[in-house]
Amino acid sequence: MQLRFSPYTLELRHAFTTATYSRTTTPAMLVELEHDGVIGYGESAMPPYLGESQQTATAFFRRAQPLIENISDPFQLEDLLPAIDAVAPGNTAAKAAFDIALHDWVGQKFGAPWFRLWGLDAAKTPVTSFTIGIDTPEIVRLKTREAAIYKIIKVKLGRENDREMIETIRSVTDTQITVDANQGWTDRDEALRMIEWLAARGVVFIEQPMPKAQLADTAWLRERSPLPLIADENCQRLSDVAALRGVFDGINIKLMKCTGLHEAHKMIVLARALGMKVMLGCMTETSCAISAAAQLSPLVDWADLDGAVLIKNDPFDGATIVDGKMVLPERPGIGVRKR
Ligand code: MG
Repeated sequence: MQLRFSPYTLELRHAFTTATYSRTTTPAMLVELEHDGVIGYGESAMPPYLGESQQTATAFFRRAQPLIENISDPFQLEDLLPAIDAVAPGNTAAKAAFDIALHDWVGQKFGAPWFRLWGLDAAKTPVTSFTIGIDTPEIVRLKTREAAIYKIIKVKLGRENDREMIETIRSVTDTQITVDANQGWTDRDEALRMIEWLAARGVVFIEQPMPKAQLADTAWLRERSPLPLIADENCQRLSDVAALRGVFDGINIKLMKCTGLHEAHKMIVLARALGMKVMLGCMTETSCAISAAAQLSPLVDWADLDGAVLIKNDPFDGATIVDGKMVLPERPGIGVRKR
């Protein structure tokens, strides 16, 4: 199996601002796996705060290359993906690119999209939220109006102007809101008061209210919170899920954190067995990684798969968002083609 990888810079439509940083581009790597006349496409999206870069991904792919070139049976996902995972620790976005490309290749060989291989109903894809970053009231109003087709708006909070952000959005729309505090609330009593205030304003759930080290405080908050709490920074991989029961009500799965579709599917199954809610999220990504994640979306409660809509230079055509809902193309693999 032949591996090709090249750096690509995602250009954002708006500067992306959260509790801890702001930026206008996202470094990415585009990956192709070619074998037996078929090319599978994959992608790593690497927001800098997560610690991966085009350099670390390049080093990882060079290290994995001999193993990948030796693959004679690409259908053996259960052996191949753990072997790639074992090449080096971390590098979850680089691993996700390989995982996505391998799934794409396998699906194309079977002539079926992955939602079909998993036995899912494409009509059950969820609506997806559209993320609005922290900004001035004028820009927030503009972004909210632009997001009119979406049935859920996701708001990044965790700064001093949290209430102003919500009131600004509420001055434009009464659509559902989900809140991502990105670990921004450090005092549990204040966090509870904020969540009660948000619940009275039509907020549906709170993502990662407190710093990931404050698990005991988060469990205290969950006992009292009128809204479900969803783990993001606390939930990277399959091995994290079981310990979060009783601390959070659900988990946010992202392909770039969990090494790809193979592990994401297992995380959904485990979370369900533990009685937890599941959300499927993303970074700013091209339609390649978004379409891959969308294949799993009929299994989840909430999707936050607006990543490709947030960039100006998407090189792929794949899953789309129609009236706020994910729509899966009837194409094999992860359902993408190059523009
Ligand atoms: Mg989050």
